[in-house]
Amino acid sequence: MKPWTSQLSSDLFWDVSQDSVDPERSMRWLTERVLVRGRWEDWLLLKDHLPREGLAELASQLKVPAREANFFWLHVGGYPELSGSLTVNRQTIVKESTMTNQNTNYLFQSFPSLFPEDRSDPRRTLMCFGFEVGDGWFELLKECFSRLTALGDECEITQVKEKWGTLRIHADTSRAADKIITEYEERSRLICEECGQPGTLRTDGWYRTTCEQHVPTR
Ligand SMILES: [Zn+2]
Repeated sequence: MKPWTSQLSSDLFWDVSQDSVDPERSMRWLTERVLVRGRWEDWLLLKDHLPREGLAELASQLKVPAREANFFWLHVGGYPELSGSLTVNRQTIVKESTMTNQNTNYLFQSFPSLFPEDRSDPRRTLMCFGFEVGDGWFELLKECFSRLTALGDECEITQVKEKWGTLRIHADTSRAADKIITEYEERSRLICEECGQPGTLRTDGWYRTTCEQHVPTR
């Protein structure tokens, strides 16, 4: 029988063979990867296969952004002793967004030092999917990338996306650059992802940050 990991999204395994992953031996690695890069379906699969024993220890060892970890344990993991048993359904969370080609090309061409030249292979960089956010955050990204470039630290951005309604930028870089990135992720909570006007994080329909005009509808 195939392990449950064979049902996870294949792009989570860009650098290893999916069939060779032993979930029992690699649970921490697997959990980190699913929480940071996984889709909603991956989170549900993970939830169903978390070990009962040693879970608290596993949770304490995870190297993932606190927002991802908290959201998982509170809303998905099914641990009411931690959360107060809130439930969120899939529809309120998943909505794809993409940036126009014009803006995408502008960012890649203006800040070449932040991205690998060859972005064709998802095993090397998830920037092969472009900027997975709406055009309303274009100016925000432009300003963030300008500051990262000016800082001059080695920095490779590996993924830009929207998660739970706010901006996420994954990068291999210095602490100083991380601080800049966090600042812009926070600022995205106040800017409409569609149009760039002042916005609010909305959690009653989709999780999205929008202005009044772009309130998401189901
Ligand atoms: Zn708007």
